[in-house]
Amino acid sequence: VLGSAAGGGFPQWNCRCVQCCGVRAGDDRFRPRTQASIALTADGERYVLINASPDIRQQVGAFGGLHPRGDRPRGTPIAALLLTNADIDHIAGLLTLRESQPLALYATRLVRDLIVEHNAVFRAIALAEKQSVWTRVEPGREPRPIRDPEGGDTGLSFRAISVPGKLPAYLLQAPSSRVASHASDEETVAYRVVDPRSGRAIVYAPGIKRYTDELMRELASADCVLVDGTCFTDDELERRGISGKTSSAMGHAPISGKDGSMEALAGISARKIYIHINNTNPILDERSTERESVQRAGIEVAFDGMEIHV
Ligand SMILES: [Zn+2]
Ligand SMILES: [Zn+2]
Repeated sequence: VLGSAAGGGFPQWNCRCVQCCGVRAGDDRFRPRTQASIALTADGERYVLINASPDIRQQVGAFGGLHPRGDRPRGTPIAALLLTNADIDHIAGLLTLRESQPLALYATRLVRDLIVEHNAVFRAIALAEKQSVWTRVEPGREPRPIRDPEGGDTGLSFRAISVPGKLPAYLLQAPSSRVASHASDEETVAYRVVDPRSGRAIVYAPGIKRYTDELMRELASADCVLVDGTCFTDDELERRGISGKTSSAMGHAPISGKDGSMEALAGISARKIYIHINNTNPILDERSTERESVQRAGIEVAFDGMEIHV
């Protein structure tokens, strides 16, 4: 786990909620967290990242597995990046990965278009031919190998699962016919990543507005699932006096409640881990009753630097 927090990180730069203040004060109930992203590897040599967080520079620095290696003057063990949607906290790190480094990027057609055509600054990763090699992700298709920019196999395969989410907030008011007429099953996806040698699979789903039957089948047949742990209650931001926006309106089913993730995950036998946790979420307080209730439900809480062997 490179980063385990939702957008904004923990603490968030402008947040004075009791938890963000607690981290700044060094309270041992809280661990600082960077914005959500994971790195997957089958061989310890080549890594596949899911999402490129704004904190990616710090995350690469903190994990030796991602440091440059080999005999060329420039290079990276990051073989490919899979993108779940076009939210800022999932794509802004691509700008840090420019520096003429060839990148293999996986996204739905919609997400690629939103990044490349609506955000001119991302042309920084497409200055040279083959600097960014995009592979179109089609939800529901059979598993396909994940390849590096030269076409080399990473030893991992993926399948995308369409999940209810929402368009990024910065595009909701965008006056564009392309945004208005897109295929909605391409807004947000989750990824199932499989090591074909062992058959073991994880599902990474940091944005889940609703637990659909299809998603439930994918979670039920995985060995480990990392799922949306953004807010504990739907009205969490309001309770903390921050905003009137509900968790579900932001594209994230809350943890608690009858449509919450704790209820949905109850029958899932895979190893279950919450990730993409908002700084307001009381499960970040290691001594809170909410944290205890999640643990009692058999669900772990991801932290930066967590290593998971599947
Ligand atoms: Zn996010
Ligand atoms: Zn806060």
